[in-house]
Amino acid sequence: MTMPNYLPDLGPITAPQLPEHISFWENCAKRELRFQCCSECERWRHPPAPVCPHCGSAGATWKLAPPRAELFSYTVVHHAPTPALRGYVPYNIAIVAFTDLIDIRIVSNVLNILPQDLCIGMPLQLVWQDQGPGRVVPLFVREGAAA
Ligand SMILES: [Zn+2]
Repeated sequence: MTMPNYLPDLGPITAPQLPEHISFWENCAKRELRFQCCSECERWRHPPAPVCPHCGSAGATWKLAPPRAELFSYTVVHHAPTPALRGYVPYNIAIVAFTDLIDIRIVSNVLNILPQDLCIGMPLQLVWQDQGPGRVVPLFVREGAAA
């Protein structure tokens, strides 16, 4: 099933990326949401970084995100920050937490929901949106809702 993009493609990422960021997006391209886990203190971290912010170790493995997520916080954008987004307001920007993983928050969007139906703590389900070559983005829907 092809899902229309939630927001328009604003073009390629032109800023330099850390190797850890490239690894994160390579995992997303495989539709695997993985976060770094420190090889020394075993704490998870996101966004990707070359060293652990807790113990300073450079060792890390990429572990699969837990299946249960929830809406930690959100905002609804009513005024488009760029002309390309004028036709998309209002849209939400969500901070998603994982029930079994207290160190991780990810910025994303909740699809197919009216702003007034968003509720902090609501269970969410991960979905993937293909936004062009090499860009597969982790997004969320209300648990049990079809993407
Ligand atoms: Zn560590």
